[in-house]
Amino acid sequence: MLDERQVERLEVTAVNSAKTRQPLYTARQKVFPKRASGRFRQFKWLVMLVTLGIYYLTPWLRWDRGPYAPDQAVLLDIANRRFYFFAIEIWPQEFFYVAGLLVMAGIGLFLVTSTVGRAWCGYTCPQTVWVDLFLVVERGIEGDRNARIKLDSAPWSFAKLWKRTAKHAIWLVIAVATGGAWIFYFADAPTLLGHFVTGQAEPVAYITVAILTTTTYAFGGLMREQVCTYMCPWPRIQAAMLDENSLTVTYNDWRGEPRSRHAKKAAAEGLSVGDCVDCNACVAVCPMGIDIRDGQQLECITCALCIDACDSVMDKIGKERGLISYATLADYQANMAIATDPATRAIDPGRVRDADGKLDKRISHFHIRRLFRPRTFVYAGAWSLVGVGLLIALLSRDRLDINVLQDRNPQYVVLSDGSIRNGYTVKLLNMVPEPRSFELSIEGLPGAVMSVVGIDQLETRSITIDAEPDKLKTVRVYVRQPREQLSQGQGFSFVVADKAGAERDTYAAKFNVPEATR
Ligand code: SF4
Ligand code: SF4
Repeated sequence: MLDERQVERLEVTAVNSAKTRQPLYTARQKVFPKRASGRFRQFKWLVMLVTLGIYYLTPWLRWDRGPYAPDQAVLLDIANRRFYFFAIEIWPQEFFYVAGLLVMAGIGLFLVTSTVGRAWCGYTCPQTVWVDLFLVVERGIEGDRNARIKLDSAPWSFAKLWKRTAKHAIWLVIAVATGGAWIFYFADAPTLLGHFVTGQAEPVAYITVAILTTTTYAFGGLMREQVCTYMCPWPRIQAAMLDENSLTVTYNDWRGEPRSRHAKKAAAEGLSVGDCVDCNACVAVCPMGIDIRDGQQLECITCALCIDACDSVMDKIGKERGLISYATLADYQANMAIATDPATRAIDPGRVRDADGKLDKRISHFHIRRLFRPRTFVYAGAWSLVGVGLLIALLSRDRLDINVLQDRNPQYVVLSDGSIRNGYTVKLLNMVPEPRSFELSIEGLPGAVMSVVGIDQLETRSITIDAEPDKLKTVRVYVRQPREQLSQGQGFSFVVADKAGAERDTYAAKFNVPEATR
């Protein structure tokens, strides 16, 4: 018989029972971020101007590559399989440069995240930049936070209708401009613009603009913080890149708590309160609609607008800035250890201040040397290594290439005078946007001569071939060797050299002869 007393009983509650189950999708609570001002906001304006300027204006920059190549500075010419970036022209077989740049971007993101946290999310991510831009329009038409909340809850009226119509119309113009700018990277921008507005562009151009217009309008105007919270995988990935020395936006509760809206009254009553006056300014400016005082959160994009908001509050009440600040977990924990009363484990704000009311000298502050640690050295080293490798490869790359296909059927032809002839298809790649003359010759294979189909010239060991700019030149070449010299080896090289320069390339080829003559 089973003794009931032997059954182990666990203290656990079913979290997914019908009684406690939360709806899978809860309705979105609208966020109405208040306009912030301060040094981080200024910096974000600057980043926004620079990134948007680069995105919209780059396709219109010109770069003179001569008469045989497009003059658009940055162009992804898919039809001709070329990528132009100012003075650099990338061919399809050189796409590893682009892959290398993507690798550098990835490592760079690791480096930035491990040092200054989610700076990418807070400052340069397109979602952040475009939401900022859309918010500028929204504020300009509907007013700041309180006016927008009021308008949102107001019944429909003429004023509300025109404001909403104007806002969405401008958002759509921005969205169309965003989609439009994208397609200009793939064709000559002025020409494509002309074709686009007159209905002569390719259908793919209209489809691309339509898709990007829709996504920009929906993500930047309608969904905003939901894209970061629910759609973007990056917040989940970067948690693995942060360590105790990475900077993140932090509410320093070791000096802020216990918060009080009536600090003077509390002081009069002999109560010790922290610096937070519970004004909620940090919550009001947050574009993600979160309260940084709840601690580190996945939703926080570290835009630092709450720092600006809180700093201006601290200025007003005569306290040191930095109640919310960029801080490392290591500094935070060290300061928390100072602030907490060992007996009660509660924060005692008196412990972080000296007799003059100033922050205690033991309080840790961020120091630049925290950026230099093994992890960041590894990231910076890997980033530099890839960068230097790419640079060396770019500076030393050939602009001339030879490739040879040997005839397989027949492998050789015995001519009437007993000499042996082999056929080859020689491909000469002129990777420069100007016409060039190449000297094609053979090295090795004593006594051998060659002829090129279509070039009226006596058999020789060296022939001049003209190549068009930026094109592959394919020629049929016959190599003939007298019978008496066949035993002297079958390996030889095709050599191609630029007649006007020092560039040359070789291809190790084989000369097939009948079995009996070897
Ligand atoms: S909590 Fe602060 S840093 Fe984080 S998203 Fe909100 S305003 Fe930006
Ligand atoms: S802005 Fe500063 S003082 Fe105001 S609630 Fe936020 S943390 Fe507290």
